[in-house]
Amino acid sequence: MRSSAHLQYTSLGSGSQGNATLVTLGTTALLIDNGFSVKELKRRLARVGYTPEDLSAVLVTHEHGDHIAGVGALVRRYGLPLYMTAGTRISGRLGGEVPDWRLIQPEHSFAIQDIEVWPVTVPHDAREPVQFILGDGAHRLGVLTDLGCITPHIVRHYRRYQALILEANHDPRLLAQGPYPPSLKKRVAGEYGHLSNQQAADFLAQMDQAQLKDVIASHLSEKNNDQQLARATLAQSLSTTPDWIGLADQEEGFAWRNLSG
Ligand SMILES: [Zn+2]
Ligand SMILES: [Zn+2]
Repeated sequence: MRSSAHLQYTSLGSGSQGNATLVTLGTTALLIDNGFSVKELKRRLARVGYTPEDLSAVLVTHEHGDHIAGVGALVRRYGLPLYMTAGTRISGRLGGEVPDWRLIQPEHSFAIQDIEVWPVTVPHDAREPVQFILGDGAHRLGVLTDLGCITPHIVRHYRRYQALILEANHDPRLLAQGPYPPSLKKRVAGEYGHLSNQQAADFLAQMDQAQLKDVIASHLSEKNNDQQLARATLAQSLSTTPDWIGLADQEEGFAWRNLSG
């Protein structure tokens, strides 16, 4: 385990085949979503120096399988507190009872040990989806994936923070030409689907750029996007180079990063 006075964050994998993000501060370790089997999550945690026993709590954004598939088994096996909205809970995707359920009320902040958490409502085709802003008292990290469009509410909540794990799901042209059936293309591109590279870039243009130190393109579609295209599109909004934009991929996620200074 690591110990630091600042938030540190890593992705264990990001995309439609499974998501899990680990955010730590000192000995507090929060897992956001788990789309992986317990065995696979253990393997991915080990890669970043953690075990399930090190986790303080699990937070879930919404009930889609790539975020919740491995959550029920994980919290039951390790007795972990599970934070989710009432809507996510009644979706019935946990596969049974959970030992310690804590209700998230969207837009009501709370603390888990040393980490402050703000759940923010997002437009996505789930029952009561939220995304999270996490803070260490001095700096804040915004996690923002699985949303079909950027609302004024999201801009108001997210615009002033230092780091952003931001969805850049698809390129509209690649999606249109790609293998998905028409109904799925419509869902992905719709207002309750997923952010395109360009929508993510437009959002970055509205951020307070003097504050922003780290942007990681996340939840990329393996079929309807291209990593370099996504990074280049986001970089353009910030007048920076594509290699400045971090990348979370399906297999590796991204390595530890931190908010300091
Ligand atoms: Zn997802
Ligand atoms: Zn989703």
